[in-house]
Parts: sequence; C-alpha cells; structure tokens
Amino acid sequence: MAKKAPRYNVYSEHLIRKFGEKVYKLPINLPGTCPNRDGRLGTGGCIYCDEAGAGFECLPATLSVQEQIEKNRAYFQKRYKARKFIVYFQTFTNTYLPFEQFRENVLAALRGDDIVGLSISTRPDCINDRQLEFLAGARSQKGVDINIELGLQTVNYRTLLKVNRGHTLAEFIDAVSRIKARGFEICVHLILNLPWDEEIDVIENAKVLSALGVHYVKLHSLYIVKGTVLGEMYQRGEFAVIPLEEYVNRAVTFLEYLDPGIVIQRLVGRGPFEKVLFSNWGVSWWLVKQKIEQRLEELDTYQGRLFNYLNGAALATAGNSCPNKHKFL
Ligand code: SF4
Repeated sequence: MAKKAPRYNVYSEHLIRKFGEKVYKLPINLPGTCPNRDGRLGTGGCIYCDEAGAGFECLPATLSVQEQIEKNRAYFQKRYKARKFIVYFQTFTNTYLPFEQFRENVLAALRGDDIVGLSISTRPDCINDRQLEFLAGARSQKGVDINIELGLQTVNYRTLLKVNRGHTLAEFIDAVSRIKARGFEICVHLILNLPWDEEIDVIENAKVLSALGVHYVKLHSLYIVKGTVLGEMYQRGEFAVIPLEEYVNRAVTFLEYLDPGIVIQRLVGRGPFEKVLFSNWGVSWWLVKQKIEQRLEELDTYQGRLFNYLNGAALATAGNSCPNKHKFL
C-alpha cells in the first residue's frame, strides 16, 4: 500500500531533502544557567521550569562538549549506522555565558567532518550581534548549517508575563530580525495550552511566526513538574489543563494557519517522567501525535490550509468597498 502523504511539513523528511540522508541530533548539556534564574532578571525562572532546564535526557554537563559528542555519536552510529550529525546545545540558555566560552563551545562542536550542523537553543533576550557575527564567520569557515532555537511559548504577551518568562514579545521580534539578517534559520518553541491562552492565541501564534518568516517550530503540550510554581498552582486547583481532544483540535488549527513552508520539528514533547504531575494526559506522546495526525485526516485538512492572511490579503477580494464593512451592516 502506498504511504500516505504527510499533512504537515515533517522535519525528518526535510533533513533528508536538505542533507541527502538521515541526520541525527547530538544533544549537548552545557554547564550554565539562565538570566531568569540566576538573579539577573529573576530568581524563580519561568513558572513551569524545573532545575534541569530542558536537559533531563542529556549526558551530565561535567563532560566536555567533545566527550558528549563522542559518546552520543558512538551510540547513533551503532544503533542507526548514522553518518551525519547536528550538534544540539539543548539545555538552559546556551548563549548566556562569557563570549570566549561561547566561542570555545561552538568551535568544539564544529570539529569533525560528519558534523553538518549546529543548533543553539536560547532565550530571545540572550542573543546579540557579536555572537551572530562570530557564528556567521564559523559557518562560512566550516561550511556547516547553523540555526538558533528561541524559546517563546506563546505570542500572548499577557501570558508571557503570567508565566514569568522575563521577556515579552518585543524581544522575540528583535531577536528574529537580527538572526534573520545574518541568514540563520530559526526554530521557535511553543506551548499550545498554557493556562491563560485560548484558541485565538493559538491562531495568533501561527500567524505571527508565519509573518516573521521563521523556519521551524517545536510544539509541546504543557507538562507540569513537581516543585515548580506551576505545579503548586496546579495542586491548589488554580487552573485546569484543557482536555486532550481540545488540545488536538488546537494543534490542528495551529497547523492550518501556519505557513506550509515552516517545518515542524516536533509535534508533541514529553516531560521528565518521574518528576511530572501532569504530562500528555497520562498517555504516551506517541499517541497524542497519532491523534493529531488522525484528526488532520478526519477533517481532510493540512498545514497551511488557512494561510491566506499576509501580503495585503484583504486586497485579494476587495472591490472599492471596505473589506471590514460587513461588521457595520
Ligand atoms: S528560560 Fe528556560 S531555563 Fe530559563 S527559566 Fe525559563 S524555562 Fe527555565
């Protein structure tokens, strides 16, 4: 039976198109922190953040970049016969450190002919022109692909305040324009069911990312970790997580409004299993992914179906009258 065409822009297939074969990410855990935890912006961090940052599946940060690359590379080579790799600075805020250290980490990551790319995860308020200039030089010298991952979570600036992100939408827009000016690709992390967000925010997420022309998106549903501010709020019953079916519909709506050229790096994430109060409605992340894909099929819809709102869209159907006039009749 012929394989069904995917209804969204799948990352693994994008990588094969781009590099000619499967490419594997080597996660790197750098010692570091975050300005939202170390006192520069705040001490508590985002209300959902636990102390492990995003590194609960990584090797210990006491190992050097090179040691982590070697161990992870050996694993992927043995298990998947992998030949090409993207080094992924995954945990905490990988550009929030002295410039020299940042430089050394990047140069250590780019050693080896089988390293075809580098992905650097950070906050929108922790990337500047000096770092980007250096990265542009490293890219042309080593001939590798470099992209920047920005944690945003939502474009709803009121929700950003409530989750204590320590930055607003403006810093994100600034970072995107600086990164794009140097020709780097951008991946954005979003949570589609933050307690204060509604479906209209999900649609705005898709529209803003499309309008800004980012290249990749990583979605995940909210997971709630024990001992975090969000965890305590959840235990006190201060908010409820939307039902799985509603989340699935939100993910579908998000995809419908998203530019079809944006690649979905991750449709569903997962939390640190033993530490969560809530994650993926108690089912496997794989099942949530399947449900989203099934819903796309049931509705016979796809990424970009409603991507029709840019470039003066109202002009496409306007005569001489106001495109908004029906609201006043
Ligand atoms: S930006 Fe990331 S590491 Fe920093 S507090 Fe928020 S979730 Fe934690």
